[in-house]
Amino acid sequence: MNFKLKKMIQDNLKEILSTLPDHVTLVAVSKTKPVSDLQEAYDAGQRVFGENKVQEMVEKYDQLPKDIEWHMIGHLQRNKVKYMAHFVDLVHGVDSFKTLAELNKQGAKHNRTIRCLLQAKIAKEDSKFGLPFEEITTLLNSEEVKNFKHVSIVGLMGMATFTEDEDQIASEFQSLQEVFTSLQSSHDQLQILSMGMSGDYQIAINHGSNMVRIGSSIFGSRNYL
Ligand SMILES: *Cc1c(COP(=O)(O)O)cnc(C)c1O
Repeated sequence: MNFKLKKMIQDNLKEILSTLPDHVTLVAVSKTKPVSDLQEAYDAGQRVFGENKVQEMVEKYDQLPKDIEWHMIGHLQRNKVKYMAHFVDLVHGVDSFKTLAELNKQGAKHNRTIRCLLQAKIAKEDSKFGLPFEEITTLLNSEEVKNFKHVSIVGLMGMATFTEDEDQIASEFQSLQEVFTSLQSSHDQLQILSMGMSGDYQIAINHGSNMVRIGSSIFGSRNYL
């Protein structure tokens, strides 16, 4: 790790944290980045990290301090749940009953309750995962889901369309804020609204987000090889 890069990560973190209200949790999205980069953020005080691949998260978990909270933010393959069930702190992208059932099953094996967020489909583009709002309500009200003892739905997550059009982004975030607020009145376990990435987190916070997932603005742009 050269000194310049170390300073860059720590300065970026400090700058972003200075813009976040106290009630907003920062998830530092470290996918594709080396363990040394995460260590720099850790040394600056960051304790919440987000990864989108189970295997990569497990490898980093094994190498880094154990007081880190690991968030799985990517689309989850059910057959991978077992590899992270013993340590994952929050699973953001849950969008099916089957995934909830698998999280419950694996949570039971480790005698813990895995916290998760239901991912809502708010983007107009087709490529994004997530549940229509009606299906979120259905899952929350399902007796089978209520009987799961080892998985707990603690909030909602959404990703806006990748666009320059800030009005569109704002209206997508607002639609999820409205659903979240209305569901909260009957489901008091819903506490977390995870919305906002490097390019749109300010808009997300204006629309009720209390958890932002920021990667490239902290660690620099990613190279997908
Ligand atoms: C990669 C990723 C982010 C972070 O994206 P940046 O634009 O680098 O901040 C946030 N959320 C999810 C689900 C991601 O996959």
